[in-house]
Amino acid sequence: MPENLQHDVLIVGAGLAGMRAAIAARAAGANTAIISKVHPVRSHSNAAQGGINAALLDRGDDWEDHAYDTIKGSDYLGDQDAIEVMCRQAGASLIDMEHMGVTFNRDDEGRLGTRAFGGQRRARTFFVGDFTGQALLHVMFEQLIKSGVRRYEEWFVTSLIMEGGQAAGVIALDIRTGELNLIKAKTVIFCTGGCGRLFEPSTNALIVTGDGMGLVYNAGGQLMDMEMVQYHPTTLAGSGVLISEAARGEGAYLRDKDGNRFMEKYAPNMMELASRDVVSRAEQTEINAGNGVDGCVYLDCTHLGEALIMERLSQIREIGVDLAGADMIREPIPIRPGMHYIMGGIKTDIDGLTNLEGVYAAGECANVSVHGGNRLGANSLLDTIVFGERAGNHASTAARGRNYVEFDAGATLARESRRIQEMLDRPNNGDRWASVRKDMGDSMNRNVAVFRNEEGIQETLGELHNLKRRYENVPVHNKGKRFNTDLVFALELGYMLDCAETIAIGALERRESRGAQFRVDYPDRNDEEWLHHIVVSESESGPQVSELPVTITKWTPEERKY
Ligand SMILES: Cc1cc2nc3c(=O)[nH]c(=O)nc-3n(C[C@H](O)[C@H](O)[C@H](O)COP(=O)(O)OP(=O)(O)OC[C@H]3O[C@@H](n4cnc5c(N)ncnc54)[C@H](O)[C@@H]3O)c2cc1C
Repeated sequence: MPENLQHDVLIVGAGLAGMRAAIAARAAGANTAIISKVHPVRSHSNAAQGGINAALLDRGDDWEDHAYDTIKGSDYLGDQDAIEVMCRQAGASLIDMEHMGVTFNRDDEGRLGTRAFGGQRRARTFFVGDFTGQALLHVMFEQLIKSGVRRYEEWFVTSLIMEGGQAAGVIALDIRTGELNLIKAKTVIFCTGGCGRLFEPSTNALIVTGDGMGLVYNAGGQLMDMEMVQYHPTTLAGSGVLISEAARGEGAYLRDKDGNRFMEKYAPNMMELASRDVVSRAEQTEINAGNGVDGCVYLDCTHLGEALIMERLSQIREIGVDLAGADMIREPIPIRPGMHYIMGGIKTDIDGLTNLEGVYAAGECANVSVHGGNRLGANSLLDTIVFGERAGNHASTAARGRNYVEFDAGATLARESRRIQEMLDRPNNGDRWASVRKDMGDSMNRNVAVFRNEEGIQETLGELHNLKRRYENVPVHNKGKRFNTDLVFALELGYMLDCAETIAIGALERRESRGAQFRVDYPDRNDEEWLHHIVVSESESGPQVSELPVTITKWTPEERKY
């Protein structure tokens, strides 16, 4: 080991949640470090297009209205205490970001501008063109550099070390050199993002592989509501790249092959701006009924005019031109529902603490739970900032009161080294991690998508079982040390398979339809039996399912209509 690496607070992941957590922990005086498998500004947060929600009280909005929309959007599965925390804090967090340097779009009067987003009765989404995530992430990175937090860039975490029931640190591969390092820590915060790529296609970057969920799950953590997978209504034909909800927020229509605005049938009040689960189901129903073209329906922006599109939607226009040969200024573009976000994740309390002592999680990998069965657009960036900061604060306070755990670091590192060497030593059996990954993605997208049933989910569970067997023998062709991405991708696949299994188990277990989970064999929501969270944990005999109550403060569940 080159030097004795140890930190009070160690953050895994340098997207928005991770950087926000690091800046908070450092400001609270903790010796803080952050690890990322890619350069921080390449994190998936960079891809966020549409915006970030906040109810600004001084312009007549009300955090309780935001909370209600979020709870209704979640189909009453979100924990209302956590949602209250997020919506109350949103305004202050947004202004913090503005003061840090984010150049939000402004309205004609020079105030921060808003656009409408789905599932909300009021326009409260603040934005920077259609590249809000990039604007936020770059500003956050500048603040991170200023804060003096130690950065381990292009380091890949391969395991979480628990000793005596407490977090003791992580082991990470320095991708540039191929060296394994042990970093001790008093507290570890996982901010590793979602797991979109275990479905194919997905709007998520190729690096979004559920590593943190897998690492915490393997160490005894709980994954909650994993069956709640969001299919975004507008992903581009072919590539599956996201076309932001900002388009519909600015007034775009959805049309079938004959030009009809079919949302009239499904959400007569909110139309195209109903919540995402509702719109995705409507589209899929139309496509299945033969009212689409080549498995897609159309997003029509032509009436918005070139000036507005070029000012506010320029990036998605370019995506349409480059990847589908369709220019939204002149013609409707073909879109369909596609995997976008996971509401489920590592179960935490409102300070990011998991069931494991000293282990925290925030951002998309965590489940606080503010999104329940369906996340509202533009609530995720907010989630990363609010709960990233809270986790950073809480972890730094917790670290102050404890010492580094004593353990045999040399032996722990040697064990991990052997595990990885065994992967590298596997004989070439003709299989490839890429084909295992593709088979998993196809199976998930076939059976655990917008519409699900028992038979299909069982089929995928069987396939995952076989894929796990293949994974145990899959060879790593590159035996080198420097930038061995072949090895990194193979390691990621292990986490992906674990996450996929927990998603399928949750989907099978929940015998009702709520939020993003639509079971054609149980088409109704059933509050009597299923108004609770489903938790999956690892045990020696395989995944164990349990349940946890939903926290309801003052909004009682009612029928959900848009
Ligand atoms: C195309 C797209 C558009 C979106 N648009 C919006 C929007 O407009 N509004 C909104 O609210 N939400 C949006 N979302 C969702 C939102 O962007 C994400 O949920 C959020 O940015 C996730 O942030 P994060 O910090 O949790 O994780 P990420 O930004 O994904 O960062 C994860 C970090 O973890 C690191 N990491 C992962 N595994 C390891 C490992 N093993 N070792 C070391 N480091 C690791 C990565 O390097 C990375 O730094 C969008 C998502 C996508 C995909």
